[in-house]
Amino acid sequence: MNPEISIVAPVFNEEENIQLLVSAIYRGVKDIGCSYECILVDDGSTDGSRLKIETVCAENEHFRMVSLAKNYGQTAALDAGFKAASGKYIVMMDADLQNNPRDIKLLLENIDGFDMVYGCRLNRKDSFVKRVSSKIGNYVRNKLTNENIRDTGCSLKIFRRECLNKIKLYNGMHRFLPTLFKIEGFSIKEVEVQHQRRLY
Ligand code: UDP
Ligand code: MG
Repeated sequence: MNPEISIVAPVFNEEENIQLLVSAIYRGVKDIGCSYECILVDDGSTDGSRLKIETVCAENEHFRMVSLAKNYGQTAALDAGFKAASGKYIVMMDADLQNNPRDIKLLLENIDGFDMVYGCRLNRKDSFVKRVSSKIGNYVRNKLTNENIRDTGCSLKIFRRECLNKIKLYNGMHRFLPTLFKIEGFSIKEVEVQHQRRLY
């Protein structure tokens, strides 16, 4: 039977983060009590990420690996993960632990009646340059598209998997998923989520 959620995380050279991520996801979904699968997409990593993911998948039936032959970038990696997913909902998140898997519960609690729930990072833990360029990017996009999406770049999102039939992803487009969903007439909702500094 298809799981309730498919968690998809793209991985490019995250060797030190894999085991921590897997433990955090395990803790995050344990309390929710829904069925899940987790697809880790190795985006042509050149460190030991692939080996780490293989070990995790051999030990835990909930985890699967999709492996790309070279580094295609975050959008393509997510797209490959989406294609392998079978859940009713897809949860996308980064593999570097900047998103907190505990927030998956919050996303699920809010998805009823919506096609997508997207995270807005509270107390964002990124460099000044990243925070400022993100603010400018969000301001310009909101003006052009006449909407009020505060943080389109937050990777943590949940959406109904079947919506993807109408969405075409191009390089870099994973950042604009809420807008692409709105263009197709899907309903979207924002929730505030945690953000953590990248440790490794
Ligand atoms: N990532 C990827 N392919 C790439 C670059 C990044 O799969 O070519 C992954 C990376 O491992 C992480 C996520 O995409 O899980 C976000 O990347 P990063 O942390 O560099 O972006 P930021 O947090 O600065 O937006
Ligand atoms: Mg990051």
